[in-house]
Amino acid sequence: ASRPQLIGLIGANVAGSLSPLLHEREAAAQGLRYAYRPLDLDELGLTPEDAGQLVRDAARLGYTGLNVTHPCKQTVISGLDALSDDARALGAVNTVTVDADRSDPADSAAHDAGTRPGARLTGRNTDHSGFRAALAEGLPGVPLGTVVLVGAGGAGSAVARALLDSGVRELLVADVDPARAAALAARLGEPRSGSRIAAVAHEEVPARLGEADGVVNATPIGMVGHPGTPFDTSALTRRHWVADVVYRPLATQLVKAALAAGCRVLDGGWMAVAQAADSFELFTGLAADRARMRAHFLDL
Ligand code: NAD
Repeated sequence: ASRPQLIGLIGANVAGSLSPLLHEREAAAQGLRYAYRPLDLDELGLTPEDAGQLVRDAARLGYTGLNVTHPCKQTVISGLDALSDDARALGAVNTVTVDADRSDPADSAAHDAGTRPGARLTGRNTDHSGFRAALAEGLPGVPLGTVVLVGAGGAGSAVARALLDSGVRELLVADVDPARAAALAARLGEPRSGSRIAAVAHEEVPARLGEADGVVNATPIGMVGHPGTPFDTSALTRRHWVADVVYRPLATQLVKAALAAGCRVLDGGWMAVAQAADSFELFTGLAADRARMRAHFLDL
């Protein structure tokens, strides 16, 4: 039998998160002993800067893995021993694995360094791997020539890398804050040969759709409390595919407009489920049943 898992979710306002139920239902279906608990900054009287200490305390108290969400994805890094390549490249962590057994010879360097007693904590980013998996699972075979990404914040950074890793040849990034789009384009500036990334003005998005195969929303626009669409959707035609990262509600105004225009659509639930499934697999070493997790998610 696998070891019992105790997973924490570090962030602000995590009391209403769907992650505990999503993880626990998948674990129950696999017959695992698995508990998933919110560790809410406000309830604990902590600030985002405390996330690094909190993750170490959690590991010491027996947590076997952690998810990390807004506003701690950067600040948690101060408490970690190592980062995966994608977490390092993004400067953001949403999953922490806890390796209690430091007797592994591969760990001897970290052990000898002696900087941190106890378990070895590694930061990873399943927003990145999750969007990539979601795109492959939910929109298989869509053309990836030119893609417009609207929103260059935390989710946008992970999505941008995932799009390039998926084979997008030209990625155009827009944000209402042009400096953010420019910074993301500069950070990702030299992807694999044969692909290119550029910042474009937010007002240009509808015109740029003329040359684009697909468009991704990585802004909060469309979620509860943020009505509207992140760009003028009248330029969408059935030639386009459209992906949204917003998942509350699943049928955002953008998703509805895209369906009405005849587009192939990936709602934000695909990414939410895929990042949870990827985290579950990192925590347990077992494959998640993604179709079952999506069915659970639609049920919640
Ligand atoms: P963020 O604040 O880091 O970034 C949002 C960006 O959108 C900012 O750069 C902002 O300037 C830009 N923006 C806002 N309104 C815009 C508009 N109308 N047009 C263009 N740009 C605009 O936020 P984030 O952490 O990246 O989260 C964004 C959304 O992604 C949230 O709704 C969050 O819930 C969602 N999210 C979903 C998943 C998932 O698994 N489905 C994962 C992570 C985040």
